[in-house]
Formats: sequence, C-alpha cells, structure tokens
Amino acid sequence: MADSVLIINAGSSSLKFSLYRENTDKEFVSSANGLLEGIGTKPHLIIKNDNKEIIFEKNWTDPELFKPSARDKLFDETIEWLFHHLGDDTIIGIGHRFVHGGAKYSAPALANDSVYEDLKALTPFVPLHQPGSLSPLRVMLNKNPEIPQVACFDTAFHATMPDYAKRFALPRKYFDDGVRRYGFHGLSYQYIVHYLQETNSPLATGKVIVAHLGNGASVTAIKNGKCVDTSMSFTPLDGLVMGTRCGKMDAAIILYMLQEEKLSPDEIQDLIWKKSGLLGVSELSSDMRDIIHEIKTNGAKSEYAQQALDLFTYRLVGEIGRLIASLKGVDGIIFTAGIGEHSPSLRYEVCKTLNWLGVSIDDEANQSGAVTISKPESKILIQTIPTNEEYIMLKEVLKFTNK
Ligand code: ADP
Repeated sequence: MADSVLIINAGSSSLKFSLYRENTDKEFVSSANGLLEGIGTKPHLIIKNDNKEIIFEKNWTDPELFKPSARDKLFDETIEWLFHHLGDDTIIGIGHRFVHGGAKYSAPALANDSVYEDLKALTPFVPLHQPGSLSPLRVMLNKNPEIPQVACFDTAFHATMPDYAKRFALPRKYFDDGVRRYGFHGLSYQYIVHYLQETNSPLATGKVIVAHLGNGASVTAIKNGKCVDTSMSFTPLDGLVMGTRCGKMDAAIILYMLQEEKLSPDEIQDLIWKKSGLLGVSELSSDMRDIIHEIKTNGAKSEYAQQALDLFTYRLVGEIGRLIASLKGVDGIIFTAGIGEHSPSLRYEVCKTLNWLGVSIDDEANQSGAVTISKPESKILIQTIPTNEEYIMLKEVLKFTNK
C-alpha cells in the first residue's frame, strides 16, 4: 500500500495523465501514464507502466461516445479503471493543468466549486483550451471531493511582468475587463528556473532567455528567476511562428478577413490556430522534423519548407532580440521542449544569427545533446535543458498534502 499523486494534462481533443507512486525512499516516481486521444472523433485509451509496457488499452465503439459532449463520460471510465488498478494504493492529491488562470490566479490553487466557476468564466479567453481542463476537474470534484485537487496555471509564472509588459495599448477599460498580456508555458519556465537553482547555475540569478519550442512555441525573459516579459500574450496564439498557429500579426488582418474575404469567425479561428504557422507556409507539415527532412532530401525543390524554416528562425531571433532589450542584456539562452531539445540544426541556425552578440556555439556539444552547447569563450552561455512540467505540478500538489 503506497501513496500516489495523479497529474492530469488535458488538451482540446486529448488527455494525458501520469501517476506518481511513493517509493521506500519516500520519493514519488512515475508508475504509469496514459493517453486518451480522439475525444470528439474516435476515442482511444492507452495506459503504460513505467517500463513503457501497455497495461490497458480501449477503443470505444458506441457512436454516442464519438461526440465531443462524451468527454466527461470517457474521462469517468478512464478514472474508474485507474482507481481499480490502484488496488490498495491511495491517491493523496491530483494536479490539473490549466492553460489560463486569469489575473486572479498567480499561484497554484486548491480547487473547489468556486475556483471551478472562476476558471469556467475564463473560457471565452481560451475557448480551445479551457473546456478540456475543466471537464476532468468537474468529474474529479464530483467523484472524490475529499482528495486535494490543485489547479496549476501556465499563466501564473508571468504574473511578475511589469505593468507595461502586461498592457496592450487599448483603452484602459479593456485591461480592466481582462484583455491583457498574460503569457503561457509558465510551468515549463518554472521548471527551467528550478533546474538552474538546483544545479547552482550562475544563470539562476542572471538574465536569461528561455525558448520553449514545441508545437506551441514561446520565448521568455527571466531576471533573477522572475519573468520580465514573454512572447505569448492574451492567448497562446501570439508571438512566434508555431506548428499550426500564425503567431504575431497585424490585428487588422482579422478585420480584412471578416469584411473582404467574408470568412466567418469560426473559419478565421480555424485558419489562425490550425492552418497557419509551419503548416500554412510549408504546405507540407506542422512538424519541424518533416520540414527539416524535406530540406535535407529535396534540396532546391523544398522552397516552401525552407521559407517556413527561415520564417520560424527569423521571428524567433527577432523576439530574442526584443527580450534582450527588455532585460537590458543577457547572460544565457536556453532551448527547451520538442524542437528546442531535439533539433541541433535549429539551435545552430539561431546561434549563428546571434554571432553579433558574442554567441559562439560548440558544434560537437550541440550535436551530442550536451547541456552546455556554447564554447567556453562565448560571451553568452547557451544551454539545452529538457523541460518537465509534470515535475513542477507534482511538487505543487505535494505542498497541499501532508508529504
Ligand atoms: P507540445 O507543444 O505538444 O508539448 P513538444 O514539446 O513535444 O509538443 O514538441 C513537439 C514538436 O517538437 C513536434 O511537433 C516537432 O515539430 C518537434 N520535434 C520533436 N522532435 C524533433 C526533432 N528530432 N527535430 C526537430 N523537431 C522535433
């Protein structure tokens, strides 16, 4: 019989969860993780143990469960299986990842009905993200209200941004109504700060830029462990070019699409969130691996892929430049998340473009997956650090238990 913590990370059409079990050294280690995919289309659940062996798999066949409204029921069944599988083990806490905590939540919160209502009220800000996170929280609050449930927010890390970094130049009323620059990927940035502190890195108290480059991508300026500015703003659409999102663009383009191209709001939403970015420009893929592979194998024929990569890099370097100005200098640049951790060629391109700053990359270290990838003489320390958002959530949940 052991204590476990459940960490839930729900997206718009999928839900990931991980179970951490306390071992004899009193450490919580990963014991199982699951993926419920195809919510709203063809739901499929797969659960693996820590050796990556499948311990449970299910395909639902009832067409009623192919509807988006079946989300709660699918999650409920998943949890039923999980609790059954736990046997004598006890879940002592649950962490729920929320993309948005609004202006009110600048730290993780013990969830109850009133917190749930607050978070539900933020749905119009992030309609593609919030419903996915609300659903498992509602189910678990109903099912197991006695277990502490902690909502962890991607916005919270950015609460320290100064007023001028939080504001759009709109009439004040809109800021008061919540139309603000919030910033996202905060749990990932928090992990990087934690890593720097734990390893006694000089960057822990320095001026650092962290590039979180996954399907969603953002870059954040951190001084002395606190956020100063970031590239995402009101929603996770702003800033960099991403897999399928357009990133920053002239806001008047939306009006042009509405008024001249006669697109509906739903069509525009689909266009800027799901059909743009690397996918829209390359007309090939939203996945950086495919873009790089196409360029390597097809050379001159891969013009669109090359343009997508150039645009991605150009906008990333431009945003790094803006953030260096906001920090008034920089001691280190850190790459993390899917592309940041696994693409030496992208890191090389970015560092080459930053030569003027005194950045000097060590090719061998960059290729080999080392943490430090800059040369000793480089004026700026460049590192690759794998992120771990779940670890941060686990630590936050444990603060609300007697562990
Ligand atoms: P998410 O933002 O969904 O959490 P990840 O951080 O896992 O995603 O990043 C996923 C993305 O990372 C993929 O879409 C792909 O573009 C990129 N990626 C993963 N591995 C590589 C690689 N070896 N080279 C280039 N890009 C990669």
